[in-house]
Amino acid sequence: MTAPGKIEFRDVPVPKVKEGQVLVKIKRIGICGSDIHVYHGKHPYTSYPVVQGHEVSGEIVKLSNGGSNFKEGDKVTIQPQIVCGRCYSCKHGQNHICDNLKVMGFQATGMASEYFAVDLKKVLKLPENISYDHGALVEPLAVAVHALKRGGDIKRRKILILGAGPIGNLVAQAANGMGAQSVMITEISDYRINIARECGINYCLNSKIQDIGEELIDTFGKDKADLILECVGINTTTEQAIANARKGTDIIVVGVFAEKATVDLGLVQDRELKLIGTLMYQEEDYRKAIELIEESKVKLDPIITEHFPFECYLEAYKYIEEKKDKIMKVMIKL
Ligand SMILES: [Zn+2]
Ligand SMILES: [Zn+2]
Repeated sequence: MTAPGKIEFRDVPVPKVKEGQVLVKIKRIGICGSDIHVYHGKHPYTSYPVVQGHEVSGEIVKLSNGGSNFKEGDKVTIQPQIVCGRCYSCKHGQNHICDNLKVMGFQATGMASEYFAVDLKKVLKLPENISYDHGALVEPLAVAVHALKRGGDIKRRKILILGAGPIGNLVAQAANGMGAQSVMITEISDYRINIARECGINYCLNSKIQDIGEELIDTFGKDKADLILECVGINTTTEQAIANARKGTDIIVVGVFAEKATVDLGLVQDRELKLIGTLMYQEEDYRKAIELIEESKVKLDPIITEHFPFECYLEAYKYIEEKKDKIMKVMIKL
């Protein structure tokens, strides 16, 4: 992407594989909300030109001389973070919030190319029963896994999720897969509500016509939800989260905010609520996401709306723009 809305294809040599790297033939690239911000020139931390692509699956086609557990033909996905290893977070097992974090596709070269040379330690093997489509969804599913873990152990808890876009949907499915007692999701798009249902979410409600507070009590009982995850990144849903939280509840802030939100911190204080941020994931979250897919604990086909060939990257963005909330995940196929 050379400028917002402008994509150029360039022929470049196949990258050389350095010591400690592998060469991956990219098969699928998922397009996500942050990519769309870059497309519109609204991503605050990305400059142009940039090679996009951070949700991928592919096949190893070449190994460097260094020993590794990989072999040619292995099906893999890639963790897109580049971290410094020196800052406080890196030194304390929290490298996903590295002070100098660079993410491929945003502040570093992304994977939207036929071949991508990458450090071994960023490559994770996919079991054979995982398709390339599903492999490219490990990244957003890892976002969901990490977000849930920020709220502690999910087992036997009642979870409320605001927003049934790709991330909200995956958070709900991951919550089910990680042993939640029941999951309720709210959304204003009937299209997305139906997909959430197809994915096995027990309680899906349209917050335009149904009252979240009443539905919460009807379904979860008077003690409402044990954990709330805001997955939209706007005022309305953040307010809904705070207003409907039982006293002392944790609210995980998963949505990415395009604008500064105005929320009632008075309620946060008075009801001893906790607002907890979450960013991306760590390697263990990637592994958990792969496990959830491998064990068929999530349904991923309903959330893949459309595929576009690599040459039609721009058409994919136009399609997303046109369809608005009538799509979930759009994939580039190589
Ligand atoms: Zn993404
Ligand atoms: Zn660091």
